[in-house]
Amino acid sequence: MNQNKIYDVIIIGGGVIGTAIARYLMRFDVKVLLLERHNDVGEEASGANSGIVHSGYDPKPGTKKAKFNVLGNKMMPEVAKELDLNFKQIGSLTLSFSEEDDKTLLDLKKRAEENGVDVKLLSKGEVFKIEPNLSKEIHGALLAPSAGIVSPFGLTVNLMENAMDNGAELLLNHEVIEIEKISEFCRVFCGNGAFFDAKTVVDAAGALADKVQEMIEKPSFSITPRKGEYFVLDHFNNDFIKHTIFMCPTKVGKGVLISQTTSGNYLVGPSNDSCDVDDVSTDALTLEDIKKTALKICPNLPFNETIREFSGVRPNSNVDDFVIEESKNFNGLFIVGGISSPGLASAIAIGDYVSKLIRDKLSLKDNLNYNPNIRKHISLSKIGKEKYNELIKKNPSYGKLICRCEKVSEGEIVDSIHRNCGAHTIKGVKKRIRPGFGKCQGTFCEAEVLKILARELKLPLEEICYSELGTNILLKAQKGAENE
Ligand SMILES: Cc1cc2nc3c(=O)[nH]c(=O)nc-3n(C[C@H](O)[C@H](O)[C@H](O)COP(=O)(O)OP(=O)(O)OC[C@H]3O[C@@H](n4cnc5c(N)ncnc54)[C@H](O)[C@@H]3O)c2cc1C
Repeated sequence: MNQNKIYDVIIIGGGVIGTAIARYLMRFDVKVLLLERHNDVGEEASGANSGIVHSGYDPKPGTKKAKFNVLGNKMMPEVAKELDLNFKQIGSLTLSFSEEDDKTLLDLKKRAEENGVDVKLLSKGEVFKIEPNLSKEIHGALLAPSAGIVSPFGLTVNLMENAMDNGAELLLNHEVIEIEKISEFCRVFCGNGAFFDAKTVVDAAGALADKVQEMIEKPSFSITPRKGEYFVLDHFNNDFIKHTIFMCPTKVGKGVLISQTTSGNYLVGPSNDSCDVDDVSTDALTLEDIKKTALKICPNLPFNETIREFSGVRPNSNVDDFVIEESKNFNGLFIVGGISSPGLASAIAIGDYVSKLIRDKLSLKDNLNYNPNIRKHISLSKIGKEKYNELIKKNPSYGKLICRCEKVSEGEIVDSIHRNCGAHTIKGVKKRIRPGFGKCQGTFCEAEVLKILARELKLPLEEICYSELGTNILLKAQKGAENE
C-alpha cells in the first residue's frame, strides 16, 4: 500500500544508528519514515552489546571511528538528560599483564592524545586503591575517566520516542526487499506488499546494510558478522568492580571486558567469532573461555551470580572504519553501514552528522517546534520514597509492584506502553523498564505483564506476543482469565 505521500527521508533499520538519524532529522522541517523488519526497534546489535560509551582513546586517529566516538562521548551527558537516560560516567581501566602490554598502553596513551581524549597511566598500586578486586598479576592500567555506560536498548528506544514526539513515523514488521528509482524519488518496497516513496533513503540496516545497498547498486563494502557472547551476573555488589575493565586490545578487537550495567548487573564478555548474520545462540565452550579470561582479570568474580547468557552480532565490515557516504551512482541514497564498535558510543554524533548531510541535500529549513526532551519516566529509584508515596496516593497503580526482582510497578508498565514507540510485547516492556531482567527472569511477573499489555492495548490475551509476530504466549486464554 502506498500512502500517496512522498517522504523526504526513509530510513531503513531501527537500530541505534537509524533511530539517532531519525531523532536529529526532526530538528528540520521534514517528513521522515523509519522502516524496521522486526516487531520492535533495537532488536539486533543495538540491543545486544556491552553498553559502553567508550572514551575514544582506542580508534586509529583520523578515522571516522575516532571522530564520531570522541564526539559522541562528549555529547552523551546532555543527550542523556534530554532523553531521560541513566548515563553513568564510571571511567574505564585498560589493564596490562606483561611488558608487551605496558608498551601497548604507551601506544594507546599516544593515540588518546592524538584523538583529544584525557587518559592517565596508573601504577599497580594506584589501580588497587580504586579496584581492589582485580588480579594481583597486573602491571598497571590506562585510566580513561570519560568512558561511561548507558542502556543500549534505552538509548535506541528513547531516540525513536523523541523522533516520533517530533513527528517521525515508524513502521515495524516492514522488511525492505527492493528499492527502485522512479523519476525524482526512490520507491521502497516491503516484503508485506507495502511500498513508500521518498526523496532520499538512508541505509542503516546494520549487519544487512551491504545487502540493502545491493538492492540498488554494487555494495561499497561487505559485512563479515562476528558474534559476541556474554554472561550477565546479578546486581550482587555495586562496589565489586566500579570501572569498565578491559584487557589490552588486539587486532581482532577489545577482548573480554567486565563492566557494570546502568542497573547494577555485571556483564562479562564478549567473545569474538565469525557467525551467520542471524545467529544469536550461545555455547558452553565459548562461555567457558570467557570465564577463564575473566577470572584472570578478577579471580573472585562470582560466576555463581550468573542469571543468564546472551549474544549479539557485530556488523563488522571489510572496510576498517565506519562507512558513512552518499552513493555516487544513486542520487539520494545515504549508506551508514559497517557500524561496528564503537557504534553505540558514536551513534548520536553520527545521527547529528548524517541529518545535516540530508538537510544540505534537501535544503531543509529548521523545525521551530522541535523539542529535544522526552517526557520524564517515573521510577522509585529516581524520585525517592516521599514523592513516590505522594504519587501512589494520586495513582495507586504505582504502588502495585509487578516485578519484585527489579522493583517495577504497574504504573511504570502502563506508561511504557502508552508512549510513542511504546512497548507492545513482553520483551518490549522488559527492554524498556526491566520486568523480567532480574533473578527470576520473568517467572513471577511475565503473566502479570501479559495481562497488563492485553488490557492496555485492548487485545485478547492470546494476541500478545513475547517478541516477534507469531511468538504468542497463549494458545487460548483460560475461561475467566480476561476478567482477572
Ligand atoms: C557483542 C557486541 C558488543 C558491542 N559493544 C559495544 C560497546 O560497548 N560500545 C559501542 O560503542 N559499541 C558496541 N558495539 C557496537 C554497536 O552495538 C553497534 O555499532 C550498533 O549497535 C550498530 O547499530 P546499527 O543501527 O547500525 O545496527 P543494528 O542495531 O543491527 O540495527 C540495524 C537494524 O536494521 C534492521 N534491518 C536490516 N535489514 C532490514 C531491512 N531489509 N528492512 C528493514 N529493516 C532492516 C535490523 O532488523 C536492525 O534492527 C557492540 C556490538 C556487539 C554485537
